[in-house]
Amino acid sequence: MPHTTQQPKPMQTVKGIPVSPGIVIGRVFVLGEAETHVPHRDIEEHEIDIEVGRLEGALRDATADLVVLRDRTEQQLGREAAKIFGFHLGLLQDPSLVGPMRERIRKDRINAEVAVADAFRKVTEQFRAIGNEVFRQKANDVLDLDRRVLGKLMGENESRLSALDEPVIIVAHELTPSQTAGMDRRKILGIATDLGGRTSHTSIVARAIEIPCVVGCQRVMERADDGDTVIVDGDTGVVIVRPTERTLEEYRVQQERFSAYRKVLRETAPLEAVTKDGTRIQLLGNIEFPHEVESVLANGGDGVGLYRTEFLYLTNDHEPSEEEQYQAYRRTLELLAGRPCTIRTLDLGADKYTQQRAHEPERNPFLGLRSIRYCLQNRELFKTQLRAILRASTSGPVKIMFPLVSTLMELRQAKMILNDVCEELDEEGIPFDRAIQTGIMIEVPSAALMARAFADECSFFSIGTNDLIQYTLAVDRGNERVANLYTGASPAVLYLVKQVVRSGRRAGIDVSLCGEIAGEAIYTMLLIGLGMRTLSLVPSQIPLIKRVIRSVDIPHCEQLARRVGSFDSERQVLNTLRDELRKIDPDSFGGWMAE
Ligand code: PEP
Ligand code: MG
Repeated sequence: MPHTTQQPKPMQTVKGIPVSPGIVIGRVFVLGEAETHVPHRDIEEHEIDIEVGRLEGALRDATADLVVLRDRTEQQLGREAAKIFGFHLGLLQDPSLVGPMRERIRKDRINAEVAVADAFRKVTEQFRAIGNEVFRQKANDVLDLDRRVLGKLMGENESRLSALDEPVIIVAHELTPSQTAGMDRRKILGIATDLGGRTSHTSIVARAIEIPCVVGCQRVMERADDGDTVIVDGDTGVVIVRPTERTLEEYRVQQERFSAYRKVLRETAPLEAVTKDGTRIQLLGNIEFPHEVESVLANGGDGVGLYRTEFLYLTNDHEPSEEEQYQAYRRTLELLAGRPCTIRTLDLGADKYTQQRAHEPERNPFLGLRSIRYCLQNRELFKTQLRAILRASTSGPVKIMFPLVSTLMELRQAKMILNDVCEELDEEGIPFDRAIQTGIMIEVPSAALMARAFADECSFFSIGTNDLIQYTLAVDRGNERVANLYTGASPAVLYLVKQVVRSGRRAGIDVSLCGEIAGEAIYTMLLIGLGMRTLSLVPSQIPLIKRVIRSVDIPHCEQLARRVGSFDSERQVLNTLRDELRKIDPDSFGGWMAE
């Protein structure tokens, strides 16, 4: 085996988007995705049999999956539809494809992933070169198969992760919300990814589980290797691969400052969220799982203002049953012990769940069959959830919130289905809260513009700025390339927020806000000035927002909101908000302010 002495690679600094605060230093664990990153490794002679064994294992597992898929498809859709899997199975058993894979491992001493990827690439190229539509289609099937086998090999990520004896920093091209939600905090110190935006659901989850995270680094995966030392600075968005000793020292000092600051903030948690002139602001937590209620309460929250129930789907390999959903809701309410809880009905679709399972992924999933639209088209799934929520409503004060409503018709349909479910429960003699309130999230411009009409037909609004920003500005919330255009400080977005608060007030219904800006200190005074008295936010930010609330008075906030309302650029808005925040408490708010 030729042996090359390699120069140590130099330090590399990458700038991304800070989405979950904190500074961590640790070793890189590259979480490769079959489609984006095939790890290349030269192997030693004694590893050859191990690699061939891995290859055989992956081929065997992929074959077993395909047999199950073929049989299930044949049962559900008939023999014709199942033929595609027959083709896949045939290829996997074809010696002219599999033989060269084994040979390359032995001859070229490379890992199984590379042998598989190269062999499939050759077949794909051959099919494409024939230039006929049928073969072009077949080339896509081959790619599919390639991903399946690579997935088996690289799916070992999980076992590699669990075999680690020290916690690591995950470096990946992209993580799905469910991958992030499934992370074990004892094993993962931090995260850095190539793709993503501040309010993509992966970022939201990282914040919720309090793992420092930087997304949108564009090419961090390419620069880091397994085992490299890396610094992830979730406050400034800097990721430093292979830092020098001096840089490490600087960051260790910063780490200490950050934990001292956290300690000070924790002292604010048990205090009341009341302004200097005596107005109480309700601070609720956004949660994805029942156990997060503990964090809401430990951080001094008053209840749950947004329960993202779809995460039960994202972390399960099957569709959760009514009973499983009921148990999750009941547990949440029991942990809340009489405090309020707003349960949002399933917000599936877009970046969550449905695309991975779809036969034909949507071309524009964020504008597609997501959220309430998905539920209205999948009534049984929707009814199952509504039954579970209603059954749980005897365990504590619950409100039901429908997401992404864009027309009145959708709200009416959702309420009709809810009525049907109530009647069914009545007939079955199952108790539930008959006075349960229903409201909607305002996260689409059409709903914001029609807020007056919506206010007549529901009990509350919760403004979801994460989506409202993306749909108002036509900026994908998860796309790092346009992240500079994505901001809650947009005068257009603020105008809509103001109109919604007005319409809600006029109709006498509650209006709150649960987008990520509710947890960003820079917006707190403005939101209070606009008339918001309830905010729902990531639990870890509650103490910081409380601290701001306790330092301001209502007339000052209202004056700021009027001033900001006259601006026509987001820069002006941001600069003013930042200056105001610094004025009220330069020491606390000088650093670590998300904007
Ligand atoms: C929002 O869109 O602001 C919101 C809170 O919902 P999600 O982030 O789950 O889309
Ligand atoms: Mg949303």
